[in-house]
Amino acid sequence: MVEAFDHGGGVRSVAVPIPDNPLGHTLVYVVDTDRGPVLVDTGWDDPDSWDTLTAGLRACGTWAGEVHGVVITHHHPDHHGLSDRVREASGAWVAMHAADAAVVRRTREARPEHWFTYMSAKLAAAGAPAEHLAPLRTPRTLPGLSPALPDREIVPGDLLDLPGRRLRAIWTPGHTPGHVCLHLEEEHPARLPGNGRLFSGDHLLPRITPHVGLYEDPDDATVTDPLGDYLDSLERIGRLAPAEVLPAHQHAFTDAPGRVRELLGHHEERLAGLLALLTEPLTPWQLAERMEWNRPWAEIPYGSRNIAVSEAESHLRRLVKQGRAEPVAGSEPVAYLAV
Ligand SMILES: [Zn+2]
Ligand SMILES: [Zn+2]
Repeated sequence: MVEAFDHGGGVRSVAVPIPDNPLGHTLVYVVDTDRGPVLVDTGWDDPDSWDTLTAGLRACGTWAGEVHGVVITHHHPDHHGLSDRVREASGAWVAMHAADAAVVRRTREARPEHWFTYMSAKLAAAGAPAEHLAPLRTPRTLPGLSPALPDREIVPGDLLDLPGRRLRAIWTPGHTPGHVCLHLEEEHPARLPGNGRLFSGDHLLPRITPHVGLYEDPDDATVTDPLGDYLDSLERIGRLAPAEVLPAHQHAFTDAPGRVRELLGHHEERLAGLLALLTEPLTPWQLAERMEWNRPWAEIPYGSRNIAVSEAESHLRRLVKQGRAEPVAGSEPVAYLAV
């Protein structure tokens, strides 16, 4: 029996399972409006997940056909996977920030050869060894992902179309380039002190830190600074000081400024730890091998190594931008050294 958790004030959540994933669930929020419920995220595209979502909506006293709109915090499949099915069932609009909508468009148009060439060049530049690059030289088909094209753009600072409610978009890039948090500018139903409630997506979670790697765009050579973006958007949410945070995983929590301080401290420690490793020149790959992960490097599977290297690079870019590390002139692949 699927239940919906009542957060009060016309907001409920349904825990939609993510198959074979240690995270377990995506919390899909159901916000009552004068025109029917609006969902914040939809969950993973899987028959069981869909059944859970629809049963959860019934537990909220509504059903999928009644949904007025879908607000997506970011393009990842555990958040945006079921958006097409919800739209088909209801005719609801689906809204997303333009930067993540661009990722969705690229994913839908991606030609496998193009993607594998890009990945193999990028990993080679990061110093990946030949045996890691070899599988990329024989392109396979990409997993059949065809995420839904959103039909509305989430414009930072704007109120969303939730009749009878005040839900404002806050752009919080870092985890993805177009991640948004949604601020419900209404008094907390239990009158907890603070500034409304915040749907935080993956940006601010109570017990884990989201992955912050590089923004992957084969057609854009701009040197972005995703970790810098992430830390700036964290501070922004800390200053907002919502009374309660409604995240997309785990559970609701209070004291957002305290959690923000913890995360800023964690990342500062991590950057300092990396800097201590850069007393000898290291490529991003070599740095990733030496960084601390949740298991030894030798046990990290292939795909997760790509994610780890991407995370090492986002930290290196931050250190370079802060003037704490520098690329070694003439090194190939580029190695970095503490300043
Ligand atoms: Zn995510
Ligand atoms: Zn997520």
